[in-house]
Amino acid sequence: MDRFEAFTAGNRGLSFADRSAELERLAARCACPDCPTYNDCSEGAGERLYCLVGRSFGCMTGNLGCACAGCPVHRALDLAFAEYCINGPEASRRYERTLP
Ligand code: SF4
Ligand code: SF4
Repeated sequence: MDRFEAFTAGNRGLSFADRSAELERLAARCACPDCPTYNDCSEGAGERLYCLVGRSFGCMTGNLGCACAGCPVHRALDLAFAEYCINGPEASRRYERTLP
């Protein structure tokens, strides 16, 4: 079990309030606001932490680069992908990777 799997398994045992607090703590460390792809729309919608909460709700207009590789959350959770705002979150992409 890698760190992302352990994190996901641990989250299942948390209350809604504790899970929300954990996501808020991680969102504060998200590097998306420093990324060129992140824009006024995503900022205004309060979007970030796409790797865990899912892709952008229509704000992204193109891929201008991705800061995920240098993000402390990416390192801490041992994430395997990037460009989560466009391509979807870690969990679904890991699942898709298992499909034939
Ligand atoms: S997921 Fe990657 S590409 Fe999208 S805003 Fe965040 S750092 Fe930029
Ligand atoms: S890995 Fe990417 S989407 Fe996830 S917190 Fe870091 S910068 Fe944000």
